[in-house]
Amino acid sequence: MSNSNIEHSSAEGVGAVIVDTVAIIGLGLIGGSFAKALKENGVARRVVGFDRRPEELKLGLSLGVIDEEAHTLKQAVEGADVVVLAVPVRAVDDVLAKVKADFKAGAILTDVGSVKGCFVKAVEHAFNDVANEHRPIVVPGHPIAGSEKSGVEAANSTLFLNHKVILTPLSDRTPEAVALVSSLWARCGATVLEMGVAHHDDVLAATSHLPHLIAFSLVDTLAGEGDSKEIFKYAAGGFRDFTRIAASDPVMWSDIFLSNSESTLKVLDHFADDLAALRDAIANQDSKTLLGVFTRAKAARDHFSKILSGQAYTTTMNTKNVIFKMKPGGEVKGTIRVAGDKSMSHRSIMLGSLADGVTEVEGFLEGEDSLATLQAFRDMGVVIEGPDEGRVKIYGVGINGLKQPPGPLYLGNSGTAMRLFAGLLAGQTFDTELTGDESLSKRPMERVAAPLREMGAIIETGEKGRPPMKIKGNCALKGMHYDMPMASAQVKSCLLLAGLYADGETSVIEPAPTRDHTERMLNGFGYPVKREGAKASLVGGGSLIATKIDVPADISSAAFFLVAASITPGAHLTLKHVGMNPTRVGIINILRAMGGSIEVSNESVVGGEPVADLTVSYRPLKGINIPEDQVPLAIDEFPVLFIAAVCAEGKTVLTGAEELRVKESDRIQVMADGLKAVGVDTVVTPDGIEIIGSEIGGGVVDSHGDHRIAMSFAVASLRAKGEITINDCANVATSFPNFEALAKQVGIQISVE
Ligand code: NAP
Repeated sequence: MSNSNIEHSSAEGVGAVIVDTVAIIGLGLIGGSFAKALKENGVARRVVGFDRRPEELKLGLSLGVIDEEAHTLKQAVEGADVVVLAVPVRAVDDVLAKVKADFKAGAILTDVGSVKGCFVKAVEHAFNDVANEHRPIVVPGHPIAGSEKSGVEAANSTLFLNHKVILTPLSDRTPEAVALVSSLWARCGATVLEMGVAHHDDVLAATSHLPHLIAFSLVDTLAGEGDSKEIFKYAAGGFRDFTRIAASDPVMWSDIFLSNSESTLKVLDHFADDLAALRDAIANQDSKTLLGVFTRAKAARDHFSKILSGQAYTTTMNTKNVIFKMKPGGEVKGTIRVAGDKSMSHRSIMLGSLADGVTEVEGFLEGEDSLATLQAFRDMGVVIEGPDEGRVKIYGVGINGLKQPPGPLYLGNSGTAMRLFAGLLAGQTFDTELTGDESLSKRPMERVAAPLREMGAIIETGEKGRPPMKIKGNCALKGMHYDMPMASAQVKSCLLLAGLYADGETSVIEPAPTRDHTERMLNGFGYPVKREGAKASLVGGGSLIATKIDVPADISSAAFFLVAASITPGAHLTLKHVGMNPTRVGIINILRAMGGSIEVSNESVVGGEPVADLTVSYRPLKGINIPEDQVPLAIDEFPVLFIAAVCAEGKTVLTGAEELRVKESDRIQVMADGLKAVGVDTVVTPDGIEIIGSEIGGGVVDSHGDHRIAMSFAVASLRAKGEITINDCANVATSFPNFEALAKQVGIQISVE
């Protein structure tokens, strides 16, 4: 059994005939539709049909579904290069018994049946006494397309357009035959996948067969209940949508269930258990269980809808190329509040899940990454309501209450999430696996895995120390003292989170100050974290108490607008309620050192974190040597600070920033390449860059899927002389979902394709 799906490229140009004669046995909905599509797309020179009922055959001919009718099965099969069985799955035995000796040498036999295991058995049974040279080459197939109609009258040549067809080639497959059958479907507009027979039957039992069973059963139950007319009269659209498939062909479906009984029973038993649990929850007034099921289901369904409509979300997020087209010039004016802080959004979900009680969060960043973190905790059994306009309610399960997730946890594009999760999961009683998107899968994870192993964790990383990370449960962690070789808030946070589950004290000494959101938020959840100079420490074995969190606006998102206003003559912009954590304000310190004008007002403290409004006005900037102690405090802001440096007079030098090379992209090199593309030369050094103030031209920039690079060049357009096109911008949604809208609101001339 293979779970890997091989996707064949689709249509290879309409018109060229790729097979001489195709015979379709069973001219019903699927057989008729395939015949008509093959004919209309010019795929076969001759499409011959056979049906038990001569009148169906006549109709097929008169409707242009087939070229020729065959009056007997033998007549249909003996001249065909490809024979397609399009009869109900339980009729296959019978049909094959009649024609097994009639195939011409080298002919291909394929089918369209909804169950593959029984087709393969039927083939083995039929041909076991036929000499090898007289056996056809068998390629089982199943189009994932159809309708509740049946018969040749319903034949529709576009039925398979943009639908999937699954082929389940046998072990003695002939690649040429598989390729040919695949081409037939591809030329009818389908996308062809390959998978193993058993896997196909399991997947279809869950996604197609069980839903049909439930729909038939529900309609039957309700129709038998009291005055059924009354029920159908008042049943709203939901009932109609949900039970549409109960109008499918009863004979075909009873065939399918009997033919795929093993896989269907497996998933049906699972469903019956879950349904019984829901019944108990209703009987016991247990709203938490109901909410848990419904919120998880809603999230999964929303995800599914997004996949269907081709929108970004987790696994699909990198598949589309979003392009920013930037007109040169523009202004920066007004008052805005940027998206909630990403670091705090992640941590609020993590700590809220581990707390005792219900945590309410406001200002949560509804970006792809924080949503992936949220979904991961749902997968570990935490009930989470929302997000709804930034509001999230987390029903904490307590420090030891997480459950084993059903599969690997997918963390999208977020390095922060993966490194923090590693610490937190190292102390659980169950095994986990962490995966991410293509860009996250290239980032180094040994920097957290190695010290965690010193604490007693068992962790495997992928090739070159990259994701996926496999984390063993039930490891007794010991507290330890760790001198971090690099200044990294993620490593520090990871070890402190592992420390929650470790015996004794865990302490981390940082070589330079890094973000301290984890420490502050742990304190906010009533878990004592000690700070002594560069050392943060905690003692394992405590618990967290639920709290309220108002996530401030993200200073890293505000950074794009701070630079935008600083470089644009006439600019005057206020950013509201920005998080002013002292470990994050490097951007303000550096811009001020370059001569920028940033005023701080309305200062307050919310949930242990300082916040303030920032007002920025244009002031000519000058180049500086960026103090190395500011580097960790502005680590995410350098791409846009490079743009400030280009707009400043003189030379700006950055050193001590090798960390930038292992972010979502190599931010030093990718920025240097992007700047070159718009006519700005820089000098790249191993740990930084030298930039001399110069004019920005137009050009095409590749962001390498790095959201901060994309937004930085959007800001650069304010001082550019020509249009800048920025490729690969889909990941902007990971940290700043409404960037485009806010950019337009202040006067940046952005359009998104
Ligand atoms: P259909 O419209 O009812 O057509 C069935 C065809 O099979 C008819 O031509 C019928 O002949 C013939 N047939 C029935 N029993 C037979 C027997 N014992 N011997 C010879 N021929 C027989 O059904 P369909 O929807 O096309 O389904 C055909 C196949 O496609 C099934 O295996 C099904 O699992 C698969 N499939 C269906 C869908 C869907 O949504 N409908 C989707 C994917 C795959 P008569 O004209 O004499 O009745």
